Amino acid sequence: MDRGLELCPRDEEAVFSSSEDRIRTSHSAVAVAGAVVASEDAWSTTRAYARRAAESLFSVLFPSDCRICGLPLLNISRLPVCPECLARIQPTEGNVCSICGERVLSAYAEPDDGLRRCPACRRLDRPYERAVAYGSYDSGLRELIHLLKYNGVRPAARVLGRMLAEAWPMLESSFASEMVLVVPVPLFKGKRRQRGFNQSELIAEAALKVYSANGRMQLASGLLLRVRDTHSQIGLTSHQRRENLRGAFAVARAQEVTGREVLLVDDVYTTGTTASECAKVLRRAGAAKVWVATVARTLKLASKYVDIAAGDPAVRVSEFERFKVGA
Ligand SMILES: [Zn+2]
Ligand SMILES: [Zn+2]
Repeated sequence: MDRGLELCPRDEEAVFSSSEDRIRTSHSAVAVAGAVVASEDAWSTTRAYARRAAESLFSVLFPSDCRICGLPLLNISRLPVCPECLARIQPTEGNVCSICGERVLSAYAEPDDGLRRCPACRRLDRPYERAVAYGSYDSGLRELIHLLKYNGVRPAARVLGRMLAEAWPMLESSFASEMVLVVPVPLFKGKRRQRGFNQSELIAEAALKVYSANGRMQLASGLLLRVRDTHSQIGLTSHQRRENLRGAFAVARAQEVTGREVLLVDDVYTTGTTASECAKVLRRAGAAKVWVATVARTLKLASKYVDIAAGDPAVRVSEFERFKVGA
């Protein structure tokens, strides 16, 4: 909070008020008060003080540090994140599984039937068609999502929405219908009230504003409900995660889902338990197909995965699961 004061050298400490003629400098020879007419030089000095004092006040009133790297922000923005930190957030590079979006080894990189599958997706039948994500859930992207979710920095939703919209073209060519329902993963009403918003909904709205083919997308908030409060998924085994979410979701108006293609939207895909549970509920209510798009996804460290891949293929799959971080 003292950053503003640092802008004024200590021996020239200025006091700013709403009127320029009430600016006083504590250790300066310049006196500006009432009828005292200052010399031209002194006046311009005073104006400089006033400007600096105004900047000080502004930096006190508005966040002045980037909330990711901590460096002072040079421009005033509704999003307290510097352009460098935003520029460092990049889409995932390299081969990922066409079905779940997980990073895949070169051994699994060759697509069959046009789709590349990770070991888990070769083994499992997912309740959704495909899940895509913009970037890896770490460093800057993770911080940006946390700013929105846990610090209530709503302008972050606009940036995250833009990123989500960048992931959508990966799916769009696969859509069979003219109009796809965009369904944000819901929060339980108590949590929504506490947070004041549902981050997935804000991100979906922001994405629809910038997406060029948004004529094919129809936001359907409130269609899917979280009817039961659930614990955090962190630290749970895959069985416990499924149990934790069992019966947590319901479709409010099944007739609106019947025969429709749904694009489920969330901020993060971690283990896929939430996406899978929502997809199951939507399919049961009659949805023809469910697609999943998230801003971020947890991805395994490539180096660790390469070590695992050298081992027994049977071990490989269980280890693959184990590296996933819960939530
Ligand atoms: Zn920064
Ligand atoms: Zn996969």
